[in-house]
Amino acid sequence: MSHQSKERTLIILKPDALQRSLMGEIIQRYERIGLKLVGMKLVVPSAEHVEQHYTLDPEWRRITGEKRVKAAKAKGEVLKTEDPYEITAVILDNLKKYMTSGPVVCMVWQGAHVVEIVRKLTGGTEPRSTDVGTIRGDYVLDSYMMADADSRAIRNLVHASGSPEEAEKEIMHWFDQNELVDYRLIGEQILYDVNLDGILE
Ligand code: AMP
Repeated sequence: MSHQSKERTLIILKPDALQRSLMGEIIQRYERIGLKLVGMKLVVPSAEHVEQHYTLDPEWRRITGEKRVKAAKAKGEVLKTEDPYEITAVILDNLKKYMTSGPVVCMVWQGAHVVEIVRKLTGGTEPRSTDVGTIRGDYVLDSYMMADADSRAIRNLVHASGSPEEAEKEIMHWFDQNELVDYRLIGEQILYDVNLDGILE
């Protein structure tokens, strides 16, 4: 197994992050915890590319639909359908409109437990109910209720991969190998090196 510090994740700053001039703030959160940026680009994705991205994980439709049902139950909301696949067909259509509405920034970040750490910093899907202190909890206020009423995707600023396996598939979907850079970040020594000799003069 390669060293923990080599784990990678895909982060996409969605169109609302760019339109609200939050790129710097968001990137700073990933940067200051000690993660390393190894790839980055600005693109306007096609609807096909977005659909392929979300359906790389065969379980995505079921999981996302079930999450919506659970959120509705917690709030006593009644949905038109509780079939996760019917729910996600609508979400996917709305997502394609949202994610192709303007430029997005795709990034690959690397570091120990990066998938888990990034999800923790990013917060849950629904900004309304996610924790204060997370990116989605601090910088945006959207809700399932508003998104459903207006037939649109939840605007939650960021996409972050759900597992290391999913991350590798997503990275391959958005980046060519030669767009990723292997390099040493001086700060990684204090995070990962076993031997700290050489600090004292
Ligand atoms: P993510 O992997 O975080 O990009 O997840 C898919 C995206 O779909 C979410 O971030 C939201 O933008 C959107 N989404 C997920 N569930 C819903 C929902 N129930 N209603 C509207 N949009 C949703």
